[in-house]
Amino acid sequence: MTADDLKQLAEAGNRRGNPVCGSWPHRAAAWESFTEDRWPTDLMQPLGTLRADGVDEPVFEEFHPHGTRYDSVGAPISVAHFPFNRCDVYRCTACARLVLRYTEFGGYYVDHRARRVDAALVSG
Ligand SMILES: [Zn+2]
Repeated sequence: MTADDLKQLAEAGNRRGNPVCGSWPHRAAAWESFTEDRWPTDLMQPLGTLRADGVDEPVFEEFHPHGTRYDSVGAPISVAHFPFNRCDVYRCTACARLVLRYTEFGGYYVDHRARRVDAALVSG
């Protein structure tokens, strides 16, 4: 899935005009850690991945042209950069808004992270 695809799907969700439902990932304006049991599986329909075809190890470089950081609200969603380049894209079946999710692999842990998609923040 490209940046354009992501942006268009996010905008389509907004255009329906229905209110955002109460599911917690919609409130994650910045990356939020969660345990698997909190993931709303019933609502989140997988749409695809932002991972590029044929790339085994996506780069860890981040994209912050305006002084944001990894965990900033309003950090750009750049599909070529960490961590968006390893995210899966989900659409909420209740309110059609998009959510991104990926898994951090630390030395001794795995940590799931989710963030909502603000169409205006999507860049190539
Ligand atoms: Zn929803």
